[in-house]
Amino acid sequence: MLAEPQRTPYDFHFQLFGFDIRVSPFFWLAGAILGWNWAIMWDDIFHRSPDFQDSNPGQGPLLLIWIAVMFFSILLHELGHAFVIRHYGRDARIVLYHFGGLAIEDSASSFSGLGRHRTPQEQIAISAAGPGIELVLAAFIILLAKGQGYAVWTGIELIDEPLGLREGRFIGSAPLLAAVDALLFVNVFWALMNLLPVYPLDGGQISRELFTLYAARDGIKNSLLLSVITGAAVAVYCLTREQTMAAIMFGMLAFSSFQILQAYSGRGGGFGPW
Ligand SMILES: [Zn+2]
Repeated sequence: MLAEPQRTPYDFHFQLFGFDIRVSPFFWLAGAILGWNWAIMWDDIFHRSPDFQDSNPGQGPLLLIWIAVMFFSILLHELGHAFVIRHYGRDARIVLYHFGGLAIEDSASSFSGLGRHRTPQEQIAISAAGPGIELVLAAFIILLAKGQGYAVWTGIELIDEPLGLREGRFIGSAPLLAAVDALLFVNVFWALMNLLPVYPLDGGQISRELFTLYAARDGIKNSLLLSVITGAAVAVYCLTREQTMAAIMFGMLAFSSFQILQAYSGRGGGFGPW
């Protein structure tokens, strides 16, 4: 599991649906870095297209649109986890930071709670709820846009082609077109990446539960091995597509899975540190 990032005097705090939410200043910084090229690209497209020249908000506002979409989407993702944690009788709080978000269980409530371990099914439901709620939002946006005859895209050929998403007219307003592009990218592409069986992504948690459910003895070891292989394969794939940042991230996740696997095997399969 990821450790909770340190508090800073510049944290932004608020409450939503009874959950405590803390946003680290590095969340905004990471958002700006991740959206930088996106904002430049859309400004360039709008600038060169006669249809959009008038409504092009420019690079700065486009970057703010990206950051707002990221904030909203990652918050929604963590709320998905938090609501299911609450459904199973425990309290949760949410932290948004440079690496994304965390829905952290309140340790006090887990002691006073039902006094039992969660079942694998419950853990899978909690992990799946984050990406799941994002995919539901994306489906809603796609249905709304397609219902009006607009072209949309997730950036994934395997989804866009068979569903005919790119057919239709463009959304007429540049800021709205850019916002829908960012919303579908974050809530489909990132959500699906998050479901890859790589530690400590949600997919890695789900794969660990499934492995231990069907092969209790070597379950954790096997899920770590799958995490190393998948992380390394995705890193190599990203390198061939010149997605350097994603390649570095998955390379690091594969390496840390490898380290945990070694530590775990070295102790003869004892109970792990997570
Ligand atoms: Zn998650």
